[in-house]
Amino acid sequence: MPSLTRDEARQRAQLISVQRMEVDLDLDRGTEHFGSSTRITFSCSAPGSATFLDLRAVSVETIELNGIPVDPAAVVDGRLPLADLGADNVVEVRSTMAYSRDGQGLHRSTDPADGEDYVYGHLFLDAAPTVFACFDQPDLKASYAVSVRAPQEWVVLGNGRATRTAPGQWDLSETLPLATYFVTVCAGPYVSVHDEHDGIPLGIHARRSLQRELEAHGPQMFEVTKQSFDHYHRTFDVRYPFGDYDQVFVPEFNAGAMENPGCVTFRDQMLFRGAATRQEVMQRSNTIAHEMAHMWFGDLVTMRWWDDLWLNESFAEFMAYTATSRATEFTDSWVEFGISRKQWGYAAERAPSTHPVAGSPAPDAQSALANFDGISYAKGASVLRQLVAHIGEEAFNAGVTAYLRSHEHSNGELSEFLATMEEAHGSSLADWSAAWLETAGVDVLALDRDGTLTRTTPQAHPADRSHALDVAGFDDGAEVFRTRLTLDTASATVDGVQREAALLVPNAGDLTWAQVDLDAESLAALPRELPRLDDSIARSVLWGAVLTGVYRASVDPAVALDVFTAAWPHESDDALMSRVALAFTDRLVPQFLPPEGVAGARARLANAALTTFEVAEPGSDRALVAARVLAATTTDEARLEAWVSGRSLPTELEHDSDFRWIVLQTMARLGLADEHRIAAVEADDTTLSGRLAGLAARAARPGTREKAWAWSEISGNRERSNYELNALATGFWSSGSLEDLRPYAARYVADIPRLAEWLGADALDRVATLAFPSRIVETETVALVRAAMERPDVTSGVRRSMGDELSKLEEALASRSRWS
Ligand SMILES: [Zn+2]
Repeated sequence: MPSLTRDEARQRAQLISVQRMEVDLDLDRGTEHFGSSTRITFSCSAPGSATFLDLRAVSVETIELNGIPVDPAAVVDGRLPLADLGADNVVEVRSTMAYSRDGQGLHRSTDPADGEDYVYGHLFLDAAPTVFACFDQPDLKASYAVSVRAPQEWVVLGNGRATRTAPGQWDLSETLPLATYFVTVCAGPYVSVHDEHDGIPLGIHARRSLQRELEAHGPQMFEVTKQSFDHYHRTFDVRYPFGDYDQVFVPEFNAGAMENPGCVTFRDQMLFRGAATRQEVMQRSNTIAHEMAHMWFGDLVTMRWWDDLWLNESFAEFMAYTATSRATEFTDSWVEFGISRKQWGYAAERAPSTHPVAGSPAPDAQSALANFDGISYAKGASVLRQLVAHIGEEAFNAGVTAYLRSHEHSNGELSEFLATMEEAHGSSLADWSAAWLETAGVDVLALDRDGTLTRTTPQAHPADRSHALDVAGFDDGAEVFRTRLTLDTASATVDGVQREAALLVPNAGDLTWAQVDLDAESLAALPRELPRLDDSIARSVLWGAVLTGVYRASVDPAVALDVFTAAWPHESDDALMSRVALAFTDRLVPQFLPPEGVAGARARLANAALTTFEVAEPGSDRALVAARVLAATTTDEARLEAWVSGRSLPTELEHDSDFRWIVLQTMARLGLADEHRIAAVEADDTTLSGRLAGLAARAARPGTREKAWAWSEISGNRERSNYELNALATGFWSSGSLEDLRPYAARYVADIPRLAEWLGADALDRVATLAFPSRIVETETVALVRAAMERPDVTSGVRRSMGDELSKLEEALASRSRWS
């Protein structure tokens, strides 16, 4: 199926405008297919010319253009040519479409807890033609009048307010102009909670089997929703325009959430069924604020073409962290941004696939998806923070308001955004944009004991980036100096640096986008000083410097492990606790340490977790995070056995199914859980989460027969959903001897690209990442993957996933050759 090119989109947008979409979906035709009728009213600026409609149907029953039948056989490769257009046109299409299992299009799945079916639409990025005939590009917006027929006991939700007009028959009120990619319909026996704020009706919805969780978490989510609305109304000075605001938790969702106007969809793991830490609730709150920011930036004003997708995401990311830190209880949300989002973005910068925030060519829609990464989100948001530092918050907000007002219900692009910012600021931003938005790469900042701050620009991407930042020094936990400055040269002497301070921290406020090299004295002082440091942002920068130092082979992983064992048990911020632990358990220890050092290192992680768990206040977030890390790393059979049987558990973890699965998965990895055992735990947890965890546990068993089974399920079972594949792939690489696993590096390059025959790109790229042979840190793996990346049958998305994982593997190889 060819992906729409930028040139085709431009030509089509010059030729036609779409006024109205009438879509009628019949979701009561069994579990495989649904009916889709579309009536599109559109005009053409050059009557007599031709264009095409996008349509990816199972079968097309009838087509009429301006009342004249068109042969359905004219649809080829997802396109229907429309010839001899009038000034005003109506095209009508009746077709049969297929539900998806990969989270793209109209996804349908059965809840194993009660056998109920649920449907949701995820039309991003170009799946709309699998649901209804349309002109599928972001700058052909139209109002939508949608009606839905569904089983009588179902509830229907969508962008417009849903009204049940007869049993099983629903009408959605006509919308403001929408782009195809954020139209949605959700249908099934969803349950709901309702509220209202500032004249906006609010609803939150979830599967029936999650009703208890919905009711438990609803009040907190409504509170954040209201706080975010107030914050954005104040900041943007433009009212939320899309009517009711529904938030729907849906199963097997590929992304975190999707900003469909008036009907945001979220992955439903965010309705935590067990104990949740404050950090997990903060992340969900941040996602709520992120999707809401898109109502203005993305939905009200949409990028003209996918090459400006970064603008949507950078903006929403920046706005969400600003909103949560200022308008909710999560005033420290930038700490999480530093250790989680920025680390993701720095990793993307170190990969060969790094690209500028803006202006990456997206010759077709699918190629834009590849750049939808930590650079678009975390770097983009950091760059917007730099812009605020550069032009001032007042000018920034004034520019945003002007941009929204001048492009509302329409589209915009980078040059227009910058022009409004320049007008608000009063001078050119061309140099600033060239350095920060249009050039790839991340600088390294280092501060020496003489107070010299140096900026090292990557050779591959030279740029003259000016950094607004602060540097600070700490001694015995207390700040002894802090200097705010703008660094716009390769090096500068910073006033006020006290050379005897135990810790010198460049970018101590984490305001700029840069990797940090610590001086030798500060690095050596970390085990002693980090536990005493009160400033959580500075700790986030320091933990980040240790991790990126290991990844860049400038810090010995053994030193990092010493810092961890000394400082982690004292870490008081649970975002730092859980993110840092994850980096050690999932990447640093298994990839960077030589195979003979892994067991000892894991024992040290487990020991640090045990110490923390034993002294943490029962029921606290610290206790919970420590218990999870302990459960994931310990080899103490007696403890695992007790916990999986529900004995000796901390009170807050009794009846916590997710925690029980962590324990069981560790047992599976250690060869302590056979099929019988896994099935017994599964029988106690018949939910979707339980079924996925069961699959992961089965794939985590170390035996050769078990690995062979898991691999054949990943590579050959076409019935597996996106989430099932993810669970299997994660479990697969979590255990087993190198000898047993080594053959699967070759199987990976042979088998995974073939999944493109039946799996959508979003889902496939994720599987290609998770199934990558990251544990086989050997030059042979590099050769295998490099050869595969040259093959023409490997899709661009899989090639990108392979390349990014390969770059991480090469970082591990470089570190091992330096430090082992
Ligand atoms: Zn977003």
